[in-house]
Amino acid sequence: MTSQNHHQLHFVLFPLMAPGHFIPMVDMAKLLAQHGVTVTVITTPLIAARLRPTINRATASGLPLRLLHLPFPSLAAGLPEGCESFDAITSLNQVNNFVVAIDMLQQPFEQLFQLLEPKPSCMIADKHIPWVTETGRKFRLPTIIFDGMSCFTLLCTHNLHVSKVHESLSESEPFVLPGLPDTIEVTKSQLPGILRPVPESLRPVSDNLQKVGARVRAVEEEAYGMVVNSFEELEPRYMNGFRKINERLWCIGPLSLSNKDNLDKAERGNKASIDENQCLKWLDTQESGTVIYACLGTLSRLTLTQLVELGSALELSKHPFVWVIEGGDKAEKLDKWMEEDGFEKRTKERGLIIQGWAPQVLVLDHPAVGAFLTHCGWNSTLEGVCAGLPMITWPLFAEQFFNEKLVVKVLETGVSVGAQAVVNLFEEDNFAVLIKREAIKKAVDEVLDAGIKGEERRKRARELGERAKRAVEKGGSSYLNVRLLIQDVMQQLKDKGPNEDHNSS
Ligand code: UDP
Repeated sequence: MTSQNHHQLHFVLFPLMAPGHFIPMVDMAKLLAQHGVTVTVITTPLIAARLRPTINRATASGLPLRLLHLPFPSLAAGLPEGCESFDAITSLNQVNNFVVAIDMLQQPFEQLFQLLEPKPSCMIADKHIPWVTETGRKFRLPTIIFDGMSCFTLLCTHNLHVSKVHESLSESEPFVLPGLPDTIEVTKSQLPGILRPVPESLRPVSDNLQKVGARVRAVEEEAYGMVVNSFEELEPRYMNGFRKINERLWCIGPLSLSNKDNLDKAERGNKASIDENQCLKWLDTQESGTVIYACLGTLSRLTLTQLVELGSALELSKHPFVWVIEGGDKAEKLDKWMEEDGFEKRTKERGLIIQGWAPQVLVLDHPAVGAFLTHCGWNSTLEGVCAGLPMITWPLFAEQFFNEKLVVKVLETGVSVGAQAVVNLFEEDNFAVLIKREAIKKAVDEVLDAGIKGEERRKRARELGERAKRAVEKGGSSYLNVRLLIQDVMQQLKDKGPNEDHNSS
């Protein structure tokens, strides 16, 4: 679909080392290359190994795309060897070390950047890498940021930073999110960490993370513009609201739709731990629109108690299901429970369990799937939208409660399991945030209900899925926004003049 050649243009993409960030950035790289731009993705060795099959397929098909990597200073930053991605982190202290490692990458990144040919025209970097605008400044290049979130979240976060309405409230007191076109209530206990006071128990690590938060806000202020993985028709009023704050805003998603063939869908972000054909074969045996796909993202770390509640809810619901369980020691304990309790035996006819990495987009696109039980990470939320599916929403942390509000209250395509407060990562059992099996089952039943409300919800979801696909087709809103982004960068280069080199000053 290369619509025009811009081989003189060279975009450098630098994603954050977390699946929810590097997966959409690689989709973005393919998309830009499909528009004729030369693209270099820079990441770390283990992430590069996860992405290489996808990139190799793209280059073999003729796309001007390249993948480079820099050694990640895990050991020097106090991380275990091989800990290069947020999904490998096992404690809050390691989050802190990860931040140190990212800072240590600046110098080698700039050395590599200096050698790139053709000379980069712009950099699209994750805003959570807090030195990217400084690097952009050194190389006199526009730094465009990406943060992997919706316009709804961006607007809510901005308005709360400015108004501070939540600061004087108690944790559980509902309040209306300020400055939005819809009346939407949340509580302070549902807000992302960057908007909440630091709990004493998490000091001093969380203090350091708050400092990073301030640097990230400085990146937002200095950046030339922002690309968003969303599409105008999904959240037009929120996009317009955020555009008033950040006028160089390009909604170019849903990025997952740049994956057309089954292998690209199956290997997106990692090699799946199940053979994709076996998975599709199993789905083929199920009736259309009946299967629940349950996956709570790459970082959720549910406790064993919570996993047992989820499994029991899937069993109680009586629907067929695909249940994705993160690997690691918790999976072993869960295995033991499944066997001893008899869960495995009782559900094996109608349940497919994927332990490890699931080919999520491939599964969601299968006609047998009827609902997505999701933690409302933004990528998963959008992938559910693209598949035209209603959602069972179970936000856990970060901006996931905002995404839930968008799905349940604005788009009206989801039903909440009723989570009231964020779950602290790496925390052991906390019964205050435990979601009981009955609550999960109730939301599942409501979403799959054959009655008129369920049917209307399904219809809205299907229509949104159609709009998502139209947005990325030639002439669609996201397609046009990619063209506008490219034109903007070309104009920047012209304005700079032919004699301006891109070397660091
Ligand atoms: N994903 C996947 N297989 C898995 C788990 C996750 O392909 O087993 C992908 C999923 O499709 C999505 C990304 O990983 O693109 C997760 O991003 P999201 O923003 O939904 O959640 P996060 O993991 O960042 O909380």
